[in-house]
Amino acid sequence: MSLNNTGVDTTGATNRMGFWHANRGNTAVPSFYANAKKMTDVYLKWRKTNKNTFVASEKYLEFEYGGVTLNGKIDWIEQDANGEYEIVDFKTGAKISQNKADEDWQIHIYAKLIEKEYGKLPTKATLYFLAEDVKRTVIIDKKKAQDILDNELKPIIDEILKGNLKAKPGAVCFRCDYKEICSFKK
Ligand code: SF4
Repeated sequence: MSLNNTGVDTTGATNRMGFWHANRGNTAVPSFYANAKKMTDVYLKWRKTNKNTFVASEKYLEFEYGGVTLNGKIDWIEQDANGEYEIVDFKTGAKISQNKADEDWQIHIYAKLIEKEYGKLPTKATLYFLAEDVKRTVIIDKKKAQDILDNELKPIIDEILKGNLKAKPGAVCFRCDYKEICSFKK
């Protein structure tokens, strides 16, 4: 996720770009293709066995919050048999712990994006680590999602708008939308 004074990019697609970028020029091509095949197989198996109803994929959503635009492109939105929304965010990197997933800002911002678009929060958000076929499912709590916005994100937004945010250039710069105009990029 990158933050700037025009918005917050929570796009899951950037993670996939990172995967391809990280492997560009890698001589371990057989391993690269083996990983890609495994992730594809895991994804297709999940599609076959998934009983929920598809709503949208790669869905771009945004809303105004605290003087900026929060946006994201959500990999997968579906509804369960009761009509409750669920999100799936596909990951190509290494799995994270359930505790870390529970505190993940990105999926809670996604949840707020869904609420703005569809009128209610999703009940669940799943980080699906395809390379390891591991899911981390987070039960979305209304208060927690709002707290992340108000108590964690908002202070950062305020500092950005005041011009007080220090640049942290690094590997993230290659997929930053502002790298062409940023004097700090690496
Ligand atoms: S190019 Fe790097 S340092 Fe500059 S805004 Fe983007 S991520 Fe930050």
